[in-house]
Amino acid sequence: MPDTSSSPKPPSFQYWNRAMETMNRAELEAWQLSRLQKTLDYSLRTPFYKERLSGTGIKSGNDIRSLDDLKKIPFTTKHDLRDGFPYGFLSIPLEDVVRLHASSGTTGTPTTIYFSAEDIKRWTGFVARSIFATGCNKTDVFQNMITYGLFTGGLGFHSGGEEVGMLVIPSGPGNTTRQFRLMQDFGTTVLHATPSFLLHVESKMREEGIARESLRLRKAFAGAEPYSEDTRLRIEKLLNIDVYNSYGLSEMNGPGVAFECQCKNGLHIWEDGYIAEIINPETLEPVREGETGELVLTILCREATPILRYRTRDLTGFIPGPCACGRTHRRLRRITGRSDDMLIINGVNVFPSQIEEVVMAMHQVGNNYLIVVEKEGSLDRLTVKVEVGQDIFMDDSRLLNAVRDKIAKTLQASITINPRVELHEKGALPVSEGKAVRVEDKRPKDV
Ligand code: ADP
Ligand code: ZN
Repeated sequence: MPDTSSSPKPPSFQYWNRAMETMNRAELEAWQLSRLQKTLDYSLRTPFYKERLSGTGIKSGNDIRSLDDLKKIPFTTKHDLRDGFPYGFLSIPLEDVVRLHASSGTTGTPTTIYFSAEDIKRWTGFVARSIFATGCNKTDVFQNMITYGLFTGGLGFHSGGEEVGMLVIPSGPGNTTRQFRLMQDFGTTVLHATPSFLLHVESKMREEGIARESLRLRKAFAGAEPYSEDTRLRIEKLLNIDVYNSYGLSEMNGPGVAFECQCKNGLHIWEDGYIAEIINPETLEPVREGETGELVLTILCREATPILRYRTRDLTGFIPGPCACGRTHRRLRRITGRSDDMLIINGVNVFPSQIEEVVMAMHQVGNNYLIVVEKEGSLDRLTVKVEVGQDIFMDDSRLLNAVRDKIAKTLQASITINPRVELHEKGALPVSEGKAVRVEDKRPKDV
C-alpha cells in the first residue's frame, strides 16, 4: 500500500502543465483563437452546424479572425442537441469514434456526445490537471464513488486519476458498508462523489460506528450537482477532509471543465479547452464583469462532437482578479443552479439553492432535506422537510416545536414565503446514488 500517512501540507501549488496553466492572457487568447478556428472547421462537417451556420457567412474557421467574432456564431441549446440526436453533431466518420457518453437526463431526454481517441486523451488531461491542482499525487488512493456507465463522472475521473498515477478504486456509488470496507482495506485517501452522497456517507459512518481514525481520508472532490458553501464546510468538518468543487457537463466532455485549486476561491475554468461567456439569459447580452448570469461554453478540445456557444443554463459569474495559485485561467463562482430550477411559489421566485443555504447552515438540521411544492386549493404550498441534527431527539416535542419554528422563521427571512417545516428522523429522507433529487414539485403541470 502506498505510504500516504504524511501530515497535511500547506498548499504547494503544484501544476500538472505549468506552461498551459500559467500562460499569459495574450498567449491564452491566441491559443483559443487557433483552437476555435479548428473547432469551426470540424463543426462545419456536422449536419447541424452546416445548416445553423449557413446564414452567418462563416464557411471555414478562417472566417473567424478574432475572439470577438465569436459573437457571429449563434447559440446552441439543449433543445438543439436533442433535435440532433443521434448523429446530427458528429463531425468525424463513425469508425473513428471510440466512445460515447450521455448526460444524466436530469431535465429531460439525455443528449449524446462522441469522442475520438485523441478527444479522450485531451479530456483525461484536463481531469488529471484538475485533480493535481488540489494537491493530490501518485501516492493517493482514490475511491471513485460516482456512477460509472454513460454518465461521464465515473470514467472521466477514473481515467484522470490513473493519469495522475493514483491507485483508482472504481467503487461506484451506493452500499456504504462496502465503501467503508474498501476505504479501510486499501487506505483510501481521496473520494469523489456528489455532495449529497458525501453527507450520506458521513451519516452512515456514524450509524455504523466507523471510527474516523480507522480511515486515511484527506480530500474529496464534490460535484455534479449544486451545493452551498455551508454544505462544503459541513462535509469538511464532519468528515475532517478537504473538499474541492468540481464542475462539468457531458456536453463539454464531463468533469474537468472547471475545478477549484487549493485556494478554494472559485473554480478555474480551463480556458485552453473552453471559451466561457456569461450572458443575461433574457437579453442574451454579456453581463458586466463579475455579475451573475448564464454560463455559455464553447468546447475547444474535442473534434468528434464540436459544440459552439452552448447555453448551459447554469448560473454563475467570473471572479475578477488573479488567483494566488498563479494560474491565469479565470475563476467562476460556485454554480448555484440552473436558470430553469427556479420555482415560482404564489408568484414569488425561489431557487432551491436559497433554501439549501439556509438549512445547511443550521446545526439543528441534519444531512438531508427535501423541498416539496403542492397545490392547496388555488394556492401553492411549500414544505421543507429536513432531517434533524445529531443532538436532537424526536421524543422531545417542546424542543422539536422550537426547532421547527426557528427553521421556518430563518427560511422566511431569506425567501420571503412562510414554508411549512417538517422534521424527520436522521436517515428518513430518500437518498439518491446519483444526483440528489431535492425538489418534488407536485403541482399539476398545466395550471
Ligand atoms: P444533466 O444536464 O442531465 O444533469 P450532466 O450529467 O452532464 O447532465 O450534468 C451536468 C450538469 O450538472 C451541469 O450542467 C450542472 O447543472 C450540474 N453540475 C455539475 N457540476 C456541478 C457543480 N460543481 N455545481 C453545480 N452544478 C453542477
Ligand atoms: Zn487558483
